[in-house]
Amino acid sequence: YSTRYDWFKDEDGNDVGIIILIEDITQRQKLENMQMDFVANVSHELKTPLTTIKSYTETLLDGGVDDPEIRSEFLEIIDNEADRMNRLVKDLLQLSRLDNNQEILNRKEGNLISLLKAAVKKIELTAKNKDQHLNCLFNPEERIPVDMDKDRIEQVILNVISNAIKYTPEGGRIDIDALKRDKTAVITVTDNGIGIPESEKSRIFERFFRVDKARSRAMGGTGLGLAISKQIVEGHQGTIQLESREGRGTKVMITLPLSLKKGIRNIE
Ligand code: ADP
Repeated sequence: YSTRYDWFKDEDGNDVGIIILIEDITQRQKLENMQMDFVANVSHELKTPLTTIKSYTETLLDGGVDDPEIRSEFLEIIDNEADRMNRLVKDLLQLSRLDNNQEILNRKEGNLISLLKAAVKKIELTAKNKDQHLNCLFNPEERIPVDMDKDRIEQVILNVISNAIKYTPEGGRIDIDALKRDKTAVITVTDNGIGIPESEKSRIFERFFRVDKARSRAMGGTGLGLAISKQIVEGHQGTIQLESREGRGTKVMITLPLSLKKGIRNIE
């Protein structure tokens, strides 16, 4: 709590009363702490690749590496770390645009099934490289009309599927489904991967939160994917939820409102 007070005085300047203002600053304090945590996280996440880049560059500049194979290995590491920084800055800029409502969602009616099919095609190879199969359970002929910014919703779906691939061991199974329920479209991505411990589940949509930082980094993750996905889905008046059992698997459920225009056309 923060307290402030002021005296009431009469005409002669004598104290005749006091006004005390007690303000609950829990919320404000919380926000300030979150902002400080965020800045600390950003700095740390940028510093890690920078340190690697710096030390490998210095070693190369010292001229101590004669073996051309080791030299190109070093250059590859530097290149990878620069890519990581790029991804991080890109994600941060997008989050900041979403926070400030500057990321204009260009929503148009589109068929969610077509979008899912295109997304699956894009990421199929990544799954195949891990000997995983993406099972499309939705009816490819169905039309699920949603008013959406196609690029952004594709980004969300690719993020969720790529998480399923990343956090599921080789040979795993990933089911992708979509259906209409009442006035919403429901998309589910289910994997039989490593899952998320119950105690961590509530924090999974927080910025930079990762169950296993080292593992996520090794997979090229920034820890911002789900936070961004949540903002995008909520910008579409939708919801994103996650169910998970450690060691068993994870199910991500996204809902988006069905396009009303379709209904109007049906009446016509
Ligand atoms: P990252 O870039 O680390 O993947 P995300 O924001 O996409 O960041 O996800 C945050 C964290 O949530 C991940 O680091 C991981 O610990 C956990 N997670 C997300 N999806 C899954 C999943 N399908 N299975 C297990 N853990 C997951």
